[in-house]
Amino acid sequence: MSTELDNSPFLVFGAPQIGEEEIAEVVDCLRSGWLGTGPRVAQFEREFAAFRHVQATQVAAVNSCTAALHVSMLAADLEPGSEVITTPLTFCATVNAILHAGLTPVLADVDPLSQNILPEAIEAAITPRTRAILPVHFAGRPCAMDQIMAIARKRDLAVIEDCAHAVEAEFHGQPLGTFGDFGCFSFYVTKNVVTGEGGMILGRSEDRIARARILALHGMSKDAWHRFGDEGYKHYQVVECGFKYNMMDVQAALGLHQLARVENNWRRREAIWQRYDEAFADLPISLPAPAETNTRHGRHLYTVMLDEQRCGIARDEFLEAMNTARIGTGVHYLSIPEHLYYQQRFGWRSEQWPNATRLGRETVSLPMSRALTDHDVERVIGAVRQILHA
Ligand SMILES: *Cc1c(COP(=O)(O)O)cnc(C)c1O
Repeated sequence: MSTELDNSPFLVFGAPQIGEEEIAEVVDCLRSGWLGTGPRVAQFEREFAAFRHVQATQVAAVNSCTAALHVSMLAADLEPGSEVITTPLTFCATVNAILHAGLTPVLADVDPLSQNILPEAIEAAITPRTRAILPVHFAGRPCAMDQIMAIARKRDLAVIEDCAHAVEAEFHGQPLGTFGDFGCFSFYVTKNVVTGEGGMILGRSEDRIARARILALHGMSKDAWHRFGDEGYKHYQVVECGFKYNMMDVQAALGLHQLARVENNWRRREAIWQRYDEAFADLPISLPAPAETNTRHGRHLYTVMLDEQRCGIARDEFLEAMNTARIGTGVHYLSIPEHLYYQQRFGWRSEQWPNATRLGRETVSLPMSRALTDHDVERVIGAVRQILHA
């Protein structure tokens, strides 16, 4: 590596961009004395609902996407032990949430190009115990929701969409998260809208969202804003055994301004994506497939595939070399059955899902954040080309 690269600051993978508006709103929130779930969360819910073209009564803010997935599956009222079909190419939280809900995960392999769950693999994985499908819109690329919803209707299955990567994405003009019974979003620091930690549940049924909201706050019939607000103390009843998953106003203070910039940020990532596509077109690596027609890709992760036979360097060596160039990268994801816990608990072997396994071993996520400057983008390109001797 050249000394010029060695002296560059470390480019943190997935760095968020926090503006002065967010900082001022957090300060205002702290000064207001109301830190917990209150008016800012309510406003964030309303604005998120408007952004996804649904009623405010169809969303509920929570403190993570993991929590959103967990309470959605509980609110879907599936019999304990029911099977939920999901993808092996996802973050562990997707599968853990199924387990926390007392359900059984069943994996269906992905398409090698789109990296999304294959509808045919879903059909092949259906058993008499199957009750739900949990598609993950990987990297922001919409799953084949027409085919997935057709399977769900035919077999009477619930659908819970993991939209952690896909807050801006659409399939055939319809926002993701609005196809299934529930859509679950993440506002974790590396995601496209950031509240530090945070999540949102979007639901087709207002009753089920109301239930999810109660489950996310101890099972209480009224939240603190309604108990301690200026209308006087109100009694509450615990109506079920819930969890502590509510979003704070301090988090919503960030989210309000992040959401206001979501389109601008998407356009900037779209431009970075095009620049990477051009700059890497001649390299012996595989680039992300073009977005499918009549879809909007969320442009969350730019993942390239390194086949050692073809490009002359192993994936992990490449990660090391990027680190030496002071550029942070990611791996999304080592497939679920490669992890010890699931192997031990379910006896899964990675060969059962060959596409996800190969992708998980070859994939590298390059920086794809609104916070990248043009100079940062050129640094990434220069480092990738130098490491591959291009
Ligand atoms: C980040 C992520 C989650 C979990 O989101 P949290 O808000 O961190 O709980 C779930 N699924 C996928 C695909 C993710 O990338």
